[in-house]
Amino acid sequence: MGSAATNISSATTITSINPATGEALGEVPVMTPEQVKAAVDAARAAQRDWAKLPIETRCRRVAKFADVLMSRAEETIDLLVREAGKTRLEALGMEVIITADLTRYFVKHAPEMLEPEPIPLHLMKHRASYLHFVPRGVVGVIAPWNFPFSIPLGETIMALIAGNGVVIKPSEVTPLIALKAKELYLAAELPPDLLQVVTGRGPTGAALIDSGIDYCVFTGSVATGKKVAVACGERLIPCTLELGGKAPAIVCGDADLERAAQAIVWGGFANSGQVCASVERVYAVDSIHDALVERVVKHAKEVRQGDASHSQDVDMGAMSWDQQVNNVEKLVDAAAGAGAKVETGGKRKPGAGMFFEPTVLSGCKQEMDVMRKEIFGPVIPIMRVQTEDEAVKLANDSHLGLLAYVFTRDRERGKRLAERIEAGTVMINDVLNTYGCPETPWGGVKQSGIGRTHSIIGLRDMCETRHVNYDRVALGREVWWYPYKEGTFRALLRGARLLFGKRPWQR
Ligand code: NAD
Repeated sequence: MGSAATNISSATTITSINPATGEALGEVPVMTPEQVKAAVDAARAAQRDWAKLPIETRCRRVAKFADVLMSRAEETIDLLVREAGKTRLEALGMEVIITADLTRYFVKHAPEMLEPEPIPLHLMKHRASYLHFVPRGVVGVIAPWNFPFSIPLGETIMALIAGNGVVIKPSEVTPLIALKAKELYLAAELPPDLLQVVTGRGPTGAALIDSGIDYCVFTGSVATGKKVAVACGERLIPCTLELGGKAPAIVCGDADLERAAQAIVWGGFANSGQVCASVERVYAVDSIHDALVERVVKHAKEVRQGDASHSQDVDMGAMSWDQQVNNVEKLVDAAAGAGAKVETGGKRKPGAGMFFEPTVLSGCKQEMDVMRKEIFGPVIPIMRVQTEDEAVKLANDSHLGLLAYVFTRDRERGKRLAERIEAGTVMINDVLNTYGCPETPWGGVKQSGIGRTHSIIGLRDMCETRHVNYDRVALGREVWWYPYKEGTFRALLRGARLLFGKRPWQR
């Protein structure tokens, strides 16, 4: 990823840039494969002692991270605003609070979630099984720039509580925030070497996968996700892939239009539209289409955009890097050229900052790139459909399937539609928010990724699930052991016929 946000003329450092002003914020090293390997080795050495601690002790120690984070929230927010172009409220709500809440949640529930779990055996009743959850070792967390704090830190907290060491490879666009996270971690008096941050670009991420990590959690684009999957596959390292999204919002004829319009505007523009779960396309049923467009445009025009460094009264900050502004501009221009109507916005703002106006497009068609490719910017394309069935069909006509949204006053209709949509999560009458619910799973279907993060599933994925099988009744021998005999064969067959002749519920 090369951009004005990074100093690509130097092979050894990256300059972090404030996207709202163009100001240089600081430099970080591009770490070599040798340095990355040393970081993994140091994390592994520290992990051996960490894994020996009872999980309750690990939880108690990790809890302190949330305390430090909340006590130093302002400085974390300041940096998120300056390095990622966020508004102060988004930096607080979507980064700091989400991370502190996730920490509290897993500190409280992980000991129970990682308790050994018995498996009742339905046939071999003289034996018993249980699962137990063993830390994997060192978890590599490769992160994007759009949520440079809450994404890597959420994975890190789960991995640490589960008994792992962690090496974070932050995005080259937002490396200083990851270094701030390490500073807070050290202030929480956690083992210094257990968490490492390796800065650099793509090759540093590739080096991390090649440095003997035991598990990789990758969040980023589909294109890089495929490379990561290949690299992990070659080394047989398990990985979770959290990739792109193209979330559809279906607005039914009976929807609360005011709620739907406000949700779509917030869901399309929050974090300047740079959310994998952003509302990226709207399918509005004919009967309410015009009224919905009118309300969405009205609310979009009220959005106040600007540099949030000095003001709380900004709804939308800068985009995080210049390449993203170019992508958005191309998609909007192509849609307008193909007949979409630019209801509001539609242009980048002149000046040094990386701003694209909050944009609403109507008259969009499914074949337009703006309806098919991930926009990752503040653009809400709207398409008129005749029926909800047509909307579901079009929603599913995508290679991505992370989040989807349905707006209806009829809860049961909402659930019926939700269950037909190919997405990891479908929200009814709301947008984005479940990323902030650590108890619910997060992840996509199709090319939006593999695996789930958050919830008991994400926590257990930070462990190897191992199985122990033991005898409940001491027997001298099993009947099917050597020597094989005709009598044993007949007895087994008779028994099996008796058992399997019955339906499972009759046994
Ligand atoms: P990206 O794929 O360009 O980069 C992600 C990370 O991968 C960066 O740290 C980068 O340096 C690293 N990387 C690049 N090449 C690599 C390689 N060969 N091996 C290992 N690591 C490598 O993505 P981005 O532009 O930073 O992030 C935006 C994308 O992330 C969007 O598509 C968005 O939808 C997606 N995203 C998904 C989720 C989710 O939960 N599913 C969340 C946030 C963002």
